[in-house]
Amino acid sequence: MASLDLVKLNKIFPNGTHAVKDVSLKIEDKEFVVLVGPSGCGKSTVLRMIAGLEEITAGDLYIDGEHVNDVSPKDRDIAMVFQNYALYPHMSIFDNMGFGLKLRRMPKNQIKEKVENAAKILGLQEFLDRKPKQLSGGQRQRVALGRAIVRDPKVFLMDEPLSNLDAKLRVQTRAELSKLHLRLETTFVYVTHDQIEAMTMGTRIVVLNDGIVQQVADPFTLYKFPVNQFVAGFIGSPQMNFVDAKLTEDNGTVSVGFKGGSIDLIPELSARLKDNDRLSVREVTLGVRPEHLDVSHAKEGDENIAIVEVTELLGSETHLFLNLKGDTVVARVDPLKNIRVHDKVKVHFEVENVHLFDRENEASLLYEEKF
Ligand code: ATP
Repeated sequence: MASLDLVKLNKIFPNGTHAVKDVSLKIEDKEFVVLVGPSGCGKSTVLRMIAGLEEITAGDLYIDGEHVNDVSPKDRDIAMVFQNYALYPHMSIFDNMGFGLKLRRMPKNQIKEKVENAAKILGLQEFLDRKPKQLSGGQRQRVALGRAIVRDPKVFLMDEPLSNLDAKLRVQTRAELSKLHLRLETTFVYVTHDQIEAMTMGTRIVVLNDGIVQQVADPFTLYKFPVNQFVAGFIGSPQMNFVDAKLTEDNGTVSVGFKGGSIDLIPELSARLKDNDRLSVREVTLGVRPEHLDVSHAKEGDENIAIVEVTELLGSETHLFLNLKGDTVVARVDPLKNIRVHDKVKVHFEVENVHLFDRENEASLLYEEKF
């Protein structure tokens, strides 16, 4: 069990790539923190610096208050699980799991106890005598986790450990990892590019882009109060719709006008714009999530009219791709709605759930520090 403190960590590779820029983050004991972001955003590099596998160019790293920049990986009491978890093919599962302990000269009876205990946690008891090739991909991934568990590390670092598994197994193993975290009561730092993994497992999520931390928050806050357009677009699937818009104010009501129509802001959101002095920004991007749009067949004189271009029937929900006078937006609607391609529909916005971004710097205009 341990806390981690990253203070202005930077990584510049010898070829000049500045992969991690001033990353500061406090991770409390027993947290499950997920680093998420697109490929190349620097998340693996942060993890590797915590593990001691990558030198820190500038900044400080503390584990349980101890400055560890120059402490070697083996003395950091950290276990890392990678995407490519090479197991020794000629060794049994038992020996694969116990190998690290054997290298540390732990007595045999203690190794046995630790391996059996880890196997029990992971449901691998009946496979201990088998060789890796006699296991499924998911079981092999669990062996890799077992190898980390037997070491009783203070911190678990995981770098995309599920990406080699098929979709079904990934969902299953995701839940197993969450259970494992509750059971082991240890600090987990987990890297993924998959926002669904991040949202389902993380108690806190760190969104990175281009080596810079964008936002650190719990899953609900990230979804509801993204700090900028990048976070808003990255979290949520299908992703948030964005359309160019203009703000106007008339008699205290703030309207958001776009090519295909307009909506009025609810008083609470207008007040937030005014209180934060953000009404001066008039060129904005309107953001609305597909689940906050609905449609009905259009009637004469309706506003916000769109043509349905594509329908995707998923069973539990239907995604409609709508042409809103040149802007394409996606709506996630009830599958029982009788809507077809080429239908003319009225688009309903859940106005309490819209987002506004400054078109110049992409900052959220409705974000407040308290979120
Ligand atoms: P992915 O999801 O693709 O693994 P990531 O977010 O984990 O991406 P990193 O592996 O941390 O990204 O890499 C961050 C940046 O640093 C990338 O631009 C990458 O090309 C670069 N990089 C990584 N390792 C090295 C290296 N050894 N030398 C030079 N550049 C590197």
